[in-house]
Amino acid sequence: MTATRIVLLGPPGAGKGTQATNLISDLGIPHISTGDMLRAAVEAGTEVGLQAKAVMDSGELVSDEIVIGIAKERLSEDDAKKGFLLDGFPRTLAQASALEKTLGDLDAALDCCLALAVDNEAVVARLRKRSEIEGRVDDNEETIRERMRVYDSETAPLLEFYRSRRVLIEVSGMGTIEEVGKRVRDALD
Ligand code: ADP
Repeated sequence: MTATRIVLLGPPGAGKGTQATNLISDLGIPHISTGDMLRAAVEAGTEVGLQAKAVMDSGELVSDEIVIGIAKERLSEDDAKKGFLLDGFPRTLAQASALEKTLGDLDAALDCCLALAVDNEAVVARLRKRSEIEGRVDDNEETIRERMRVYDSETAPLLEFYRSRRVLIEVSGMGTIEEVGKRVRDALD
């Protein structure tokens, strides 16, 4: 595998987090999840956390300004020099452009955008199950639908963006974790 700078894309519930965890141990690169960073900020009660909490709970997107700020800061840390797996960022075209610029400034470029494709009803079923296990506030049915709507309108256009950059790899996210994991590894090879 040569790809080390990866963006993982997919609707909520596509299994990004699960696949990310397996991939980083294979590739030895840091897993950078803006969702995890924002949840940590909420937990710690920082300024960013205070601003983000209500937005996240309702299934809307945290402002580009905040998210671009935390992503940039994280990407400038030492361990991101050997590559990274970005999960949950970028989520808007403005974020994708900011990422491109940040990487350009670092003389780096994205190796691929790995997009997990799943069907909507499978996603709702998975998220409902996760809410029972993890109890995330944003995993109730109404918020799930809202996050899917936000994905379709704000994030899905990134597929075209990365296709035009010739780095898009689409993989089916349906099936077991192992099946999807194998598809992902085959696609990156
Ligand atoms: P998911 O389970 O949908 O993949 P995440 O854990 O990545 O969700 O993110 C949870 C929430 O954090 C999102 O619904 C959103 O409110 C906020 N968030 C995370 N990343 C971003 C981002 N790049 N831009 C805006 N908001 C974000």
